[in-house]
Amino acid sequence: MKTFFQIYQHFSPELKRRFWLLFFGMVFLAVVETVTVGIIAFYAAAISDPQATYDAFMGYHFILLDPSQLFPGFSIKLMIALFSLLLIIAVVIKNILSGVVTYHIAKFSAATESHFGSRLLDSFLNRDYQWHLNKNSADLVQKVNWRHFLGRYFITSCLKMTAEIAMLMVLLAGLLLVQPLVSLLFIATQGVAGIVVYRFLRKGLDHSARGCQEAETILNRTATCALHAIKDVQISGARKYFVDGFQEWGTRFSTLFGKQQFWQESPLLALESLGFVMIAGAILFMLFGLEYSPLETTGTTALLAVTAWRTLPAFNRVVSSMAGMRTAMPYVSSLLEEMSEMSDLRSSGEGTVGEKTISFVSAIKFVNVSFSYDGHRSVLQALNFEIPCGKSLGIVGPSGSGKSTLIDLLTGLLWPQGGEIRIDDKLLSEENVHSWRKSIGYVPQFPYILDGTLAENIAFGQAAQDIDRERVVEVCRMAAIDFLDQLSDGIDSIIGERGIKLSGGQRQRVAIARALYRCPKLIIFDEATSALDEDKDFEIRQLILQLKGKQTLVIVSHRPSTIAECDNIVKIDRLL
Ligand code: ADP
Ligand code: MG
Repeated sequence: MKTFFQIYQHFSPELKRRFWLLFFGMVFLAVVETVTVGIIAFYAAAISDPQATYDAFMGYHFILLDPSQLFPGFSIKLMIALFSLLLIIAVVIKNILSGVVTYHIAKFSAATESHFGSRLLDSFLNRDYQWHLNKNSADLVQKVNWRHFLGRYFITSCLKMTAEIAMLMVLLAGLLLVQPLVSLLFIATQGVAGIVVYRFLRKGLDHSARGCQEAETILNRTATCALHAIKDVQISGARKYFVDGFQEWGTRFSTLFGKQQFWQESPLLALESLGFVMIAGAILFMLFGLEYSPLETTGTTALLAVTAWRTLPAFNRVVSSMAGMRTAMPYVSSLLEEMSEMSDLRSSGEGTVGEKTISFVSAIKFVNVSFSYDGHRSVLQALNFEIPCGKSLGIVGPSGSGKSTLIDLLTGLLWPQGGEIRIDDKLLSEENVHSWRKSIGYVPQFPYILDGTLAENIAFGQAAQDIDRERVVEVCRMAAIDFLDQLSDGIDSIIGERGIKLSGGQRQRVAIARALYRCPKLIIFDEATSALDEDKDFEIRQLILQLKGKQTLVIVSHRPSTIAECDNIVKIDRLL
């Protein structure tokens, strides 16, 4: 219940509205179902003993009106025909309504799923870079996928349970009117038994559900890692390692899953056994304890059986929905944790509120900047330099000396522990970093190429209809994308997931075009040519040199030759 309220708080107003509509729809269905059951019972009675029913019907006076006068010529046959019609109408209405409610439950659950999925993805993308450094991306993807547990399992179970409870209430209210004592006894025993059984089995259920969640995370991580590193896996023959690892956890998962399903079913099994024990016990008690005659016993038992027939399945479904919700619980609570952390971030002012702009016309200054990833080992210490607008800066140092770290500081992905970064004498801070990043074009060593067209890759993050196609062609020319002619559909050619259809040099050009597309004031090349062979390296360097003087450039390399022509050079050394 508490979890449901937590989820409910994250609903959008539209979802809340739909939830209540659905809720009342379900209560209405419960009433219709009960009425139908009544009609069926009545119909059965009418068929088995038409004469008695007819007499009862004719003897019944509607507010002083005599039915025999009101319906002259009303025969037994006519009565049965009338009841048949009533029965057909009731059953058809009930089933249509039931179908409509099923449709809406599914639709609502799926809508909740996608609502939470997109909020979650948004929250992950909004997290700072430092947070991501400590996370496994496969785990994050899986968390987004766990929205199924929230919608399909949790919300659906929750709604179904509410519907069943509503039906049970209406049904039990009806039964109480007809046969109060037996029903009350029955409800009380079943209710208490249900609660006891549920409480007793809850621990086992929780334990196996959590185990399953852990195993699934590891399975997913293994598969994702192996597929991302397909080249290395194939060349180094590491296939067996990954498959074995997967298999091992798969076996572990299967045991846990078996247990989980067992615990989920067990309340049903236990309650059913209990139900029969109760009925048999009641009969024996009446026969031997109260010394009833067998005839009396049959009468009471029949009533008990009818009550059980209607209430037990509904009751069981309530318990199994509860178990289903319990199974989804570990997944749902980890999503909810994520969501509440996100709202904390929002309320502490991160995001779009209080956004400030930053301009860059004179210079970027690093003043005594120090940084460490773990708080112990410094990567950068008391770094001072200046990048005047329009000039180029070369950053050189051996591999692992902290060049990429410096760039992450410059782009505001990481924050210095000491000193400050000033842009036009304004301190770079969380408030203006989004504005600052808009004026940066970044070319990494291994650019990420989306599984899409060349144009989509250059206009990274723009919807197809918003892409400025002329600008795309222009930057392709600026980035010397000469392979454009070889592509069958020009800038609309698909270049494959992670750019597998392109060579390293071609990927680098796409990345340069991507950086240029946004008309940045500052372009950063982080080892942009290091992965290329010598003549390609030369070509790209020429390309970068052409930009010199037009744009502010920061060029990072471990090769001194690459940055030889920069206006200023900063050397960094490996600390340790
Ligand atoms: P460069 O780009 O000059 O090769 P980096 O800036 O990538 O060097 O790394 C500088 C140092 O910081 C390295 O010693 C590396 O081990 C360490 N480092 C890089 N990223 C992380 C990280 N996410 N967590 C901890 N240490 C890191
Ligand atoms: Mg680097």
